[in-house]
Amino acid sequence: MAIEVDLYSDTVTRPTLEMRRFMCEADVGDEQKHEDPTVNLLQGMVAELLGKEAALFLPSGTMCNEIALRVHCRHGEEMLAHKTAHPIHFEAGGPAALAGVNVQALDGPRGQYDAATLEATIRPDNRHMPRSRLAWVEQTSNLGGGSVWPLDKVRTVTDVARRRGLSTHMDGARLMNAVVASGISAQQWAAPFDSAWIDFTKGLGAPVGAAIAGSRDFIAEAWRLKQQMGGAMRQAGIIAAGGVYALEHHVKRLAEDHANAKRLAEGLATLPGITLDPASVETNLVFFDLTGALDAPAAVERMLARGVRMGALGPRTIRAVTHLDVSVQGIERALDVARAVFR
Ligand SMILES: *Cc1c(COP(=O)(O)O)cnc(C)c1O
Repeated sequence: MAIEVDLYSDTVTRPTLEMRRFMCEADVGDEQKHEDPTVNLLQGMVAELLGKEAALFLPSGTMCNEIALRVHCRHGEEMLAHKTAHPIHFEAGGPAALAGVNVQALDGPRGQYDAATLEATIRPDNRHMPRSRLAWVEQTSNLGGGSVWPLDKVRTVTDVARRRGLSTHMDGARLMNAVVASGISAQQWAAPFDSAWIDFTKGLGAPVGAAIAGSRDFIAEAWRLKQQMGGAMRQAGIIAAGGVYALEHHVKRLAEDHANAKRLAEGLATLPGITLDPASVETNLVFFDLTGALDAPAAVERMLARGVRMGALGPRTIRAVTHLDVSVQGIERALDVARAVFR
């Protein structure tokens, strides 16, 4: 059966007709020679959005993270991140393979650690130990249920990092969701970080790309690594235009995704065999646990057979993600199907 409502991820969106037209008409040139006007425009937009000196367009968020690790850390040094952080689980071992960094995985509820945990984890200056080099924040936290790190927590954590001589990095794959949910600007969120990036292919609905921002020196070094890793492109304005269009037209509407996620969570929470606190849904990610006879892979399969796709994130955990291509009617349809499966 065809997928009618795809809640698998916010990466499944297809570019809208308007976005495709805008991409089609983009001015292009050789981005490696800084001659692509659309790439230059997008980089300028992201630098301004995040309040940094410069920005760099990259093929993916994964490359933003891996390049940031390589700029901030030397081999054998250490990154400190929450134990659910994307590079620890979903970047094919990149931190070890590409950056040669040691990872310390920090604990804490909802994908967030606190300043005291960070302080206690940073190593003393001791030649037996790896040197703690980089503190990492994922905003919003994906495996933390789309939670928004509160601004005061971000500030106290990055204060500790700076005081102890660490650099700071924000994985902002879904930063714009945090911006819309909190009313706090991207610039304010990014201010305490040496580097920060946003993804155009999550809630923003573009087909390709991400952009990282930082100081001029940071971006110059990131450019070298982009070239080295084969991420330097040519007439990339064609795809960068998707990012330009998304920043102009797809940010405010993220509020609809958040409302849809809340609506979905409230409906699911009433079903037997499902544990879900709708108050825990802050943005566009809905995580729930199964307590009945049905396990997550089986439940997901039964919903899929009825045209609704969600993701099994563990034996008893399911994730549903709202986005541009899911309407209020789609949420109602998903709830009908969930009612049939979990009854
Ligand atoms: C998706 C994601 C990434 C990686 O981005 P890609 O563009 O898919 O490479 C990194 N971090 C988080 C939190 C993500 O959700």
